[in-house]
Amino acid sequence: MEAERFVTFDLPPAVREIMARLDRAGYEVFLVGGCVRDMLRGTTPGDYDMTTSATPEEMHSVFAGYRTVDTGIRHGTVTVIVDGTPFEITTYRVDGDYRDSRHPTEVRYTASLQEDVARRDFTVNAIAYHPEKGLCDYFGGCEDLEKRVLRAVGDPRRRFREDALRILRALRFSATLGFLLEEETAAAAREAAPLLLRVSAERVREELTKLLLGDHASAVLSEFADILAVLFPRWYEWLLAGDDPAEHALSRLGAWLSHVPKTPVARYTVFLSPFVRTEQAAAQMDALRFDHRTRDRVTKLLSHRNDPCHANIRAARRFLSSLGGEDALLLLDIRRSARLVDGESGEEQVLAKSIVRALLEEEGECSSVSDLAVRGGDLIALGFSAGKELGLTLRALLAAVADGRVKNEKTALLAYAQDELK
Ligand code: ATP
Ligand code: MG
Repeated sequence: MEAERFVTFDLPPAVREIMARLDRAGYEVFLVGGCVRDMLRGTTPGDYDMTTSATPEEMHSVFAGYRTVDTGIRHGTVTVIVDGTPFEITTYRVDGDYRDSRHPTEVRYTASLQEDVARRDFTVNAIAYHPEKGLCDYFGGCEDLEKRVLRAVGDPRRRFREDALRILRALRFSATLGFLLEEETAAAAREAAPLLLRVSAERVREELTKLLLGDHASAVLSEFADILAVLFPRWYEWLLAGDDPAEHALSRLGAWLSHVPKTPVARYTVFLSPFVRTEQAAAQMDALRFDHRTRDRVTKLLSHRNDPCHANIRAARRFLSSLGGEDALLLLDIRRSARLVDGESGEEQVLAKSIVRALLEEEGECSSVSDLAVRGGDLIALGFSAGKELGLTLRALLAAVADGRVKNEKTALLAYAQDELK
Protein backbone atom coordinates (compact mmCIF):
# COMPACT_ATOMS: atom_id res chain seq x y z
CA MET A 1 0.00 0.00 0.00
CA GLU A 2 1.43 3.36 -0.97
CA ALA A 3 0.67 6.89 0.20
CA GLU A 4 -2.84 6.30 1.45
CA ARG A 5 -3.25 9.78 2.83
CA PHE A 6 -1.64 12.93 1.72
CA VAL A 7 -0.87 15.33 4.51
CA THR A 8 1.62 18.13 4.85
CA PHE A 9 3.60 18.65 8.01
CA ASP A 10 5.68 21.62 8.97
CA LEU A 11 9.22 20.26 8.96
CA PRO A 12 12.32 21.99 10.30
CA PRO A 13 14.45 23.39 7.45
CA ALA A 14 17.34 21.08 8.40
CA VAL A 15 15.12 18.01 7.89
CA ARG A 16 14.00 19.30 4.49
CA GLU A 17 17.62 19.94 3.56
CA ILE A 18 18.69 16.39 4.48
CA MET A 19 15.77 14.79 2.66
CA ALA A 20 16.28 16.94 -0.46
CA ARG A 21 19.97 16.00 -0.62
CA LEU A 22 19.20 12.28 -0.53
CA ASP A 23 16.36 12.77 -3.05
CA ARG A 24 18.65 14.61 -5.44
CA ALA A 25 21.29 11.91 -5.17
CA GLY A 26 18.66 9.39 -6.27
CA TYR A 27 18.01 7.63 -2.95
CA GLU A 28 14.73 7.09 -1.12
CA VAL A 29 14.36 8.74 2.24
CA PHE A 30 11.46 8.90 4.71
CA LEU A 31 10.82 10.18 8.17
CA VAL A 32 9.78 7.26 10.34
CA GLY A 33 8.95 6.20 13.88
CA GLY A 34 8.16 8.49 16.79
CA CYS A 35 8.30 11.74 14.81
CA VAL A 36 5.65 10.68 12.28
CA ARG A 37 3.49 9.29 15.08
CA ASP A 38 3.80 12.53 17.03
CA MET A 39 3.12 14.82 14.05
CA LEU A 40 -0.01 12.81 13.25
CA ARG A 41 -1.13 13.24 16.86
CA GLY A 42 -0.52 16.96 16.56
CA THR A 43 2.43 17.14 18.95
CA THR A 44 5.90 18.40 18.14
CA PRO A 45 8.44 15.58 17.84
CA GLY A 46 11.50 15.56 20.08
CA ASP A 47 13.67 14.32 17.25
CA TYR A 48 13.34 13.46 13.57
CA ASP A 49 14.63 10.01 12.60
CA MET A 50 14.96 9.13 8.94
CA THR A 51 15.25 5.89 7.03
CA THR A 52 16.89 5.67 3.61
CA SER A 53 17.85 3.32 0.79
CA ALA A 54 21.39 4.79 0.89
CA THR A 55 24.03 2.71 2.66
CA PRO A 56 26.22 4.39 5.31
CA GLU A 57 29.01 4.75 2.74
CA GLU A 58 26.65 6.37 0.28
CA MET A 59 25.40 8.69 3.03
CA HIS A 60 28.98 9.75 3.69
CA SER A 61 29.40 10.88 0.12
CA VAL A 62 25.98 12.59 0.04
CA PHE A 63 26.84 14.46 3.23
CA ALA A 64 30.51 15.03 2.45
CA GLY A 65 30.29 18.72 3.38
CA TYR A 66 28.64 18.01 6.75
CA ARG A 67 29.83 16.75 10.08
CA THR A 68 28.76 13.13 10.44
CA VAL A 69 29.12 10.59 13.23
CA ASP A 70 28.93 6.84 12.71
CA THR A 71 26.55 6.32 15.61
CA GLY A 72 25.57 2.76 14.94
CA ILE A 73 27.48 1.91 11.84
CA ARG A 74 26.87 -1.82 12.40
CA HIS A 75 23.15 -1.10 12.29
CA GLY A 76 23.46 1.31 9.41
CA THR A 77 22.92 4.50 11.40
CA VAL A 78 24.77 7.67 10.51
CA THR A 79 24.20 10.90 12.42
CA VAL A 80 24.34 14.03 10.30
CA ILE A 81 24.80 17.31 12.11
CA VAL A 82 23.06 20.31 10.56
CA ASP A 83 23.38 23.70 12.26
CA GLY A 84 24.45 21.98 15.45
CA THR A 85 21.46 19.62 15.57
CA PRO A 86 22.06 15.88 15.13
CA PHE A 87 19.77 13.81 12.90
CA GLU A 88 19.86 10.02 12.80
CA ILE A 89 19.55 8.45 9.38
CA THR A 90 19.39 4.67 9.16
CA THR A 91 19.71 2.49 6.09
CA TYR A 92 16.64 0.35 5.29
CA ARG A 93 17.34 -2.92 7.00
CA VAL A 94 15.97 -6.30 7.91
CA ASP A 95 16.92 -7.93 11.19
CA GLY A 96 18.13 -11.51 10.89
CA ASP A 97 17.35 -14.21 13.46
CA TYR A 98 17.49 -13.09 17.03
CA ARG A 99 19.90 -14.72 19.49
CA ASP A 100 19.03 -13.99 23.17
CA SER A 101 15.61 -12.30 22.91
CA ARG A 102 17.39 -9.04 22.40
CA HIS A 103 20.00 -8.93 19.64
CA PRO A 104 19.62 -9.98 16.03
CA THR A 105 22.46 -12.25 14.87
CA GLU A 106 22.81 -10.30 11.66
CA VAL A 107 21.53 -7.09 10.15
CA ARG A 108 20.98 -6.98 6.42
CA TYR A 109 20.39 -3.88 4.31
CA THR A 110 17.45 -3.92 1.93
CA ALA A 111 16.18 -1.72 -0.88
CA SER A 112 12.60 -1.93 0.39
CA LEU A 113 10.93 0.52 2.74
CA GLN A 114 8.23 -2.04 3.41
CA GLU A 115 10.80 -4.56 4.67
CA ASP A 116 12.33 -1.89 6.87
CA VAL A 117 9.09 -0.88 8.55
CA ALA A 118 8.13 -4.54 9.01
CA ARG A 119 10.92 -4.91 11.61
CA ARG A 120 9.56 -2.02 13.71
CA ASP A 121 7.75 -2.67 16.95
CA PHE A 122 4.23 -1.22 16.77
CA THR A 123 2.05 -0.18 13.84
CA VAL A 124 1.90 3.43 15.07
CA ASN A 125 5.73 3.48 15.00
CA ALA A 126 5.88 2.00 11.49
CA ILE A 127 4.39 4.86 9.48
CA ALA A 128 6.75 6.60 7.03
CA TYR A 129 6.39 10.12 5.65
CA HIS A 130 7.89 12.08 2.80
CA PRO A 131 6.91 15.71 2.12
CA GLU A 132 6.12 15.03 -1.54
CA LYS A 133 5.01 11.41 -1.36
CA GLY A 134 2.86 11.65 1.76
CA LEU A 135 2.32 8.84 4.26
CA CYS A 136 3.35 5.23 3.67
CA ASP A 137 1.41 3.09 6.06
CA TYR A 138 1.83 -0.62 5.34
CA PHE A 139 0.46 -1.96 8.61
CA GLY A 140 -2.59 0.12 9.43
CA GLY A 141 -0.75 2.44 11.78
CA CYS A 142 -2.96 5.45 10.98
CA GLU A 143 -6.09 3.52 11.86
CA ASP A 144 -4.55 2.29 15.11
CA LEU A 145 -3.46 5.82 15.90
CA GLU A 146 -7.05 6.98 15.52
CA LYS A 147 -8.30 4.10 17.65
CA ARG A 148 -5.49 4.83 20.14
CA VAL A 149 -4.26 1.27 20.05
CA LEU A 150 -0.79 -0.29 20.26
CA ARG A 151 -0.59 -3.30 17.99
CA ALA A 152 2.58 -5.24 17.26
CA VAL A 153 3.68 -5.26 13.63
CA GLY A 154 3.14 -8.88 12.52
CA ASP A 155 2.71 -11.78 14.94
CA PRO A 156 2.99 -10.32 18.46
CA ARG A 157 4.22 -13.60 19.97
CA ARG A 158 7.11 -13.80 17.58
CA ARG A 159 7.93 -10.10 17.90
CA PHE A 160 8.12 -10.20 21.71
CA ARG A 161 10.12 -13.41 21.63
CA GLU A 162 12.58 -11.80 19.20
CA ASP A 163 13.12 -8.81 21.43
CA ALA A 164 11.70 -8.76 24.94
CA LEU A 165 12.43 -5.06 25.36
CA ARG A 166 9.39 -4.48 23.14
CA ILE A 167 7.18 -5.70 26.01
CA LEU A 168 8.39 -2.87 28.19
CA ARG A 169 8.20 -0.43 25.27
CA ALA A 170 4.55 -1.40 24.83
CA LEU A 171 3.89 -0.52 28.47
CA ARG A 172 5.91 2.68 28.13
CA PHE A 173 4.03 3.87 25.04
CA SER A 174 0.75 2.99 26.70
CA ALA A 175 1.77 5.13 29.70
CA THR A 176 2.97 8.09 27.65
CA LEU A 177 0.39 8.09 24.84
CA GLY A 178 -2.57 6.75 26.78
CA PHE A 179 -3.15 4.05 24.15
CA LEU A 180 -4.47 0.60 25.04
CA LEU A 181 -2.68 -2.57 24.03
CA GLU A 182 -4.63 -4.43 21.39
CA GLU A 183 -5.90 -7.70 22.83
CA GLU A 184 -3.54 -10.17 21.16
CA THR A 185 -0.60 -7.86 21.69
CA ALA A 186 -1.44 -7.65 25.40
CA ALA A 187 -1.84 -11.43 25.72
CA ALA A 188 1.46 -12.01 23.91
CA ALA A 189 3.21 -9.46 26.15
CA ARG A 190 2.03 -11.35 29.24
CA GLU A 191 3.06 -14.68 27.79
CA ALA A 192 6.55 -13.47 26.89
CA ALA A 193 7.08 -11.50 30.12
CA PRO A 194 9.60 -14.00 31.62
CA LEU A 195 11.96 -13.09 28.76
CA LEU A 196 12.24 -9.58 30.25
CA LEU A 197 14.87 -11.00 32.59
CA ARG A 198 17.25 -11.08 29.63
CA VAL A 199 17.00 -7.35 28.97
CA SER A 200 19.90 -5.27 30.25
CA ALA A 201 19.40 -3.25 33.43
CA GLU A 202 20.09 0.03 31.61
CA ARG A 203 17.39 -0.56 29.01
CA VAL A 204 14.89 -1.61 31.67
CA ARG A 205 15.68 1.53 33.64
CA GLU A 206 15.31 3.81 30.62
CA GLU A 207 11.94 2.39 29.66
CA LEU A 208 10.67 2.22 33.24
CA THR A 209 11.60 5.86 33.82
CA LYS A 210 9.67 6.96 30.73
CA LEU A 211 6.76 4.78 31.82
CA LEU A 212 6.65 6.27 35.33
CA LEU A 213 6.81 9.82 33.93
CA GLY A 214 3.92 9.11 31.55
CA ASP A 215 0.58 10.85 32.01
CA HIS A 216 -1.14 7.47 31.99
CA ALA A 217 1.33 5.56 34.16
CA SER A 218 -1.34 4.90 36.72
CA ALA A 219 -3.52 2.84 34.36
CA VAL A 220 -0.51 0.85 33.16
CA LEU A 221 0.56 0.04 36.72
CA SER A 222 -2.90 -1.26 37.52
CA GLU A 223 -3.23 -3.30 34.39
CA PHE A 224 0.26 -4.69 33.92
CA ALA A 225 1.69 -5.01 37.42
CA ASP A 226 1.95 -8.74 36.74
CA ILE A 227 4.41 -8.02 33.93
CA LEU A 228 6.44 -5.65 36.11
CA ALA A 229 6.39 -8.38 38.78
CA VAL A 230 8.67 -10.48 36.58
CA LEU A 231 11.33 -7.78 36.84
CA PHE A 232 10.57 -6.75 40.41
CA PRO A 233 9.27 -9.80 42.30
CA ARG A 234 10.03 -8.44 45.80
CA TRP A 235 8.44 -5.12 45.00
CA TYR A 236 5.31 -6.94 43.89
CA GLU A 237 5.26 -9.13 46.99
CA TRP A 238 5.51 -6.12 49.28
CA LEU A 239 2.95 -4.22 47.27
CA LEU A 240 0.42 -6.97 47.82
CA ALA A 241 1.49 -7.78 51.38
CA GLY A 242 -0.88 -5.31 53.06
CA ASP A 243 -4.49 -5.88 54.07
CA ASP A 244 -5.83 -4.24 50.94
CA PRO A 245 -7.09 -6.39 48.09
CA ALA A 246 -4.53 -6.50 45.26
CA GLU A 247 -6.61 -4.36 42.95
CA HIS A 248 -6.95 -1.63 45.51
CA ALA A 249 -3.25 -1.64 46.41
CA LEU A 250 -2.40 -1.24 42.73
CA SER A 251 -4.85 1.51 41.97
CA ARG A 252 -3.80 3.37 45.10
CA LEU A 253 -0.13 3.25 44.10
CA GLY A 254 -1.04 4.38 40.58
CA ALA A 255 -3.18 7.29 41.77
CA TRP A 256 -0.48 8.38 44.21
CA LEU A 257 2.16 8.21 41.49
CA SER A 258 0.18 10.39 39.12
CA HIS A 259 -0.30 13.07 41.78
CA VAL A 260 3.38 13.69 42.49
CA PRO A 261 5.66 15.91 40.39
CA LYS A 262 6.72 14.51 37.02
CA THR A 263 10.36 13.97 37.94
CA PRO A 264 12.29 10.70 38.19
CA VAL A 265 13.10 11.36 41.87
CA ALA A 266 9.48 11.92 42.89
CA ARG A 267 8.08 9.11 40.77
CA TYR A 268 10.66 6.50 41.85
CA THR A 269 10.13 7.46 45.48
CA VAL A 270 6.48 6.51 45.11
CA PHE A 271 7.10 3.52 42.86
CA LEU A 272 9.59 2.01 45.31
CA SER A 273 7.56 2.87 48.40
CA PRO A 274 6.16 -0.68 48.76
CA PHE A 275 9.66 -1.66 49.95
CA VAL A 276 9.32 -1.24 53.68
CA ARG A 277 13.07 -1.24 54.22
CA THR A 278 14.92 1.53 52.47
CA GLU A 279 17.93 -0.71 51.82
CA GLN A 280 15.74 -2.91 49.62
CA ALA A 281 14.77 0.08 47.53
CA ALA A 282 18.43 1.15 47.31
CA ALA A 283 19.43 -2.37 46.23
CA GLN A 284 16.74 -2.32 43.57
CA MET A 285 18.04 0.98 42.24
CA ASP A 286 21.60 -0.35 42.22
CA ALA A 287 20.41 -3.36 40.28
CA LEU A 288 18.95 -0.94 37.73
CA ARG A 289 22.34 0.82 37.64
CA PHE A 290 21.00 4.19 38.64
CA ASP A 291 23.29 7.18 38.80
CA HIS A 292 24.30 7.80 42.39
CA ARG A 293 22.69 11.20 42.66
CA THR A 294 19.20 9.94 41.84
CA ARG A 295 19.67 6.81 43.92
CA ASP A 296 20.85 8.80 46.94
CA ARG A 297 18.02 11.30 46.75
CA VAL A 298 15.31 8.64 46.42
CA THR A 299 16.88 6.63 49.23
CA LYS A 300 17.05 9.69 51.44
CA LEU A 301 13.41 10.55 50.79
CA LEU A 302 12.33 6.99 51.54
CA SER A 303 14.37 6.75 54.72
CA HIS A 304 12.74 9.92 56.09
CA ARG A 305 9.31 9.10 54.74
CA ASN A 306 7.69 8.91 58.17
CA ASP A 307 9.70 11.54 60.02
CA PRO A 308 7.51 13.96 61.98
CA CYS A 309 7.49 17.49 60.68
CA HIS A 310 4.38 19.41 61.49
CA ALA A 311 4.35 18.69 65.23
CA ASN A 312 6.37 21.75 66.22
CA ILE A 313 9.11 24.05 65.01
CA ARG A 314 11.82 21.82 66.46
CA ALA A 315 10.55 18.82 64.52
CA ALA A 316 10.34 20.93 61.37
CA ARG A 317 13.89 22.15 61.86
CA ARG A 318 15.16 18.61 62.28
CA PHE A 319 13.17 17.48 59.24
CA LEU A 320 14.67 20.29 57.21
CA SER A 321 18.20 19.68 58.32
CA SER A 322 18.08 15.98 57.51
CA LEU A 323 16.53 16.47 54.07
CA GLY A 324 17.64 19.86 52.82
CA GLY A 325 15.24 22.50 51.55
CA GLU A 326 14.33 21.06 48.18
CA ASP A 327 13.76 17.51 49.34
CA ALA A 328 11.96 18.53 52.54
CA LEU A 329 9.35 20.35 50.45
CA LEU A 330 9.21 17.52 47.92
CA LEU A 331 8.67 14.89 50.61
CA LEU A 332 5.82 16.93 52.06
CA ASP A 333 4.24 17.10 48.60
CA ILE A 334 4.63 13.36 48.16
CA ARG A 335 3.09 12.69 51.56
CA ARG A 336 0.25 15.09 50.91
CA SER A 337 -0.57 13.28 47.65
CA ALA A 338 -0.76 10.00 49.57
CA ARG A 339 -3.24 11.53 52.05
CA LEU A 340 -5.38 12.96 49.27
CA VAL A 341 -5.47 9.60 47.49
CA ASP A 342 -6.67 8.07 50.76
CA GLY A 343 -9.47 10.61 50.91
CA GLU A 344 -7.93 12.64 53.72
CA SER A 345 -7.45 16.39 53.68
CA GLY A 346 -3.63 16.52 53.62
CA GLU A 347 -3.88 19.67 55.72
CA GLU A 348 -1.08 18.64 58.08
CA GLN A 349 1.31 18.58 55.14
CA VAL A 350 0.21 21.99 53.97
CA LEU A 351 0.85 23.35 57.43
CA ALA A 352 4.21 21.61 57.63
CA LYS A 353 5.14 23.02 54.26
CA SER A 354 4.44 26.56 55.35
CA ILE A 355 6.55 26.07 58.49
CA VAL A 356 9.42 24.67 56.43
CA ARG A 357 9.09 27.55 53.96
CA ALA A 358 9.15 30.09 56.76
CA LEU A 359 12.25 28.47 58.23
CA LEU A 360 13.94 28.50 54.87
CA GLU A 361 13.17 32.15 54.33
CA GLU A 362 14.04 33.28 57.80
CA GLU A 363 17.28 31.49 58.09
CA GLY A 364 18.18 31.38 54.43
CA GLU A 365 18.87 27.77 55.26
CA CYS A 366 21.03 26.05 52.73
CA SER A 367 21.89 22.52 53.50
CA SER A 368 23.59 21.53 50.35
CA VAL A 369 25.53 23.18 47.57
CA SER A 370 22.65 22.49 45.18
CA ASP A 371 20.44 24.82 47.26
CA LEU A 372 22.75 27.76 46.62
CA ALA A 373 21.38 30.47 44.36
CA VAL A 374 24.52 30.21 42.21
CA ARG A 375 25.78 27.36 40.07
CA GLY A 376 29.32 26.35 39.22
CA GLY A 377 28.88 27.89 35.77
CA ASP A 378 28.22 31.33 37.30
CA LEU A 379 31.51 31.14 39.15
CA ILE A 380 33.42 29.96 36.10
CA ALA A 381 32.05 32.97 34.25
CA LEU A 382 33.52 35.05 37.06
CA GLY A 383 36.95 33.57 36.42
CA PHE A 384 37.09 30.67 38.88
CA SER A 385 38.61 27.57 37.39
CA ALA A 386 36.59 24.37 37.08
CA GLY A 387 37.48 21.42 39.28
CA LYS A 388 38.76 21.46 42.82
CA GLU A 389 38.77 25.25 43.25
CA LEU A 390 35.14 25.42 42.20
CA GLY A 391 34.06 22.78 44.72
CA LEU A 392 35.90 24.57 47.51
CA THR A 393 34.39 27.92 46.56
CA LEU A 394 30.85 26.53 46.55
CA ARG A 395 31.38 24.99 49.97
CA ALA A 396 32.83 28.23 51.28
CA LEU A 397 29.74 30.05 50.00
CA LEU A 398 27.51 27.50 51.69
CA ALA A 399 29.30 28.04 54.99
CA ALA A 400 29.02 31.82 54.59
CA VAL A 401 25.27 31.55 54.02
CA ALA A 402 24.89 29.24 57.01
CA ASP A 403 26.76 31.75 59.22
CA GLY A 404 24.65 34.63 57.97
CA ARG A 405 27.60 36.40 56.37
CA VAL A 406 25.89 36.58 53.01
CA LYS A 407 22.35 36.15 51.72
CA ASN A 408 21.49 33.24 49.48
CA GLU A 409 20.85 35.48 46.49
CA LYS A 410 22.73 35.34 43.22
CA THR A 411 24.14 38.88 43.12
CA ALA A 412 25.08 38.84 46.79
CA LEU A 413 26.79 35.47 46.43
CA LEU A 414 28.70 36.47 43.32
CA ALA A 415 29.88 39.69 44.93
CA TYR A 416 30.98 37.78 48.04
CA ALA A 417 32.83 35.20 45.94
CA GLN A 418 34.55 37.96 44.00
CA ASP A 419 35.56 40.01 47.04
CA GLU A 420 36.31 37.38 49.66
CA LEU A 421 37.12 34.14 47.92
CA LYS A 422 39.05 34.98 44.80
P1 ATP B 1 10.34 8.48 21.39
O1 ATP B 1 9.29 9.50 21.26
O2 ATP B 1 10.53 7.96 22.75
O3 ATP B 1 11.66 8.82 20.73
P2 ATP B 1 10.21 6.54 19.29
O4 ATP B 1 9.04 5.79 18.70
O5 ATP B 1 10.93 7.48 18.38
O6 ATP B 1 9.71 7.23 20.58
P3 ATP B 1 12.73 5.26 19.64
O7 ATP B 1 13.21 4.42 20.77
O8 ATP B 1 13.39 6.57 19.40
O9 ATP B 1 11.18 5.44 19.85
O10 ATP B 1 12.83 4.37 18.33
C1 ATP B 1 12.61 4.88 17.03
C2 ATP B 1 11.84 3.88 16.19
O11 ATP B 1 12.64 2.71 16.00
C3 ATP B 1 10.54 3.39 16.80
O12 ATP B 1 9.47 4.25 16.52
C4 ATP B 1 10.39 2.05 16.14
O13 ATP B 1 9.90 2.20 14.83
C5 ATP B 1 11.82 1.55 16.05
N1 ATP B 1 12.25 0.76 17.22
C6 ATP B 1 12.94 1.18 18.30
N2 ATP B 1 13.20 0.19 19.15
C7 ATP B 1 12.67 -0.92 18.61
C8 ATP B 1 12.63 -2.28 18.99
N3 ATP B 1 13.15 -2.70 20.14
N4 ATP B 1 12.00 -3.15 18.16
C9 ATP B 1 11.46 -2.74 16.98
N5 ATP B 1 11.48 -1.47 16.57
C10 ATP B 1 12.07 -0.56 17.36
MG1 MG C 1 12.73 8.65 18.84
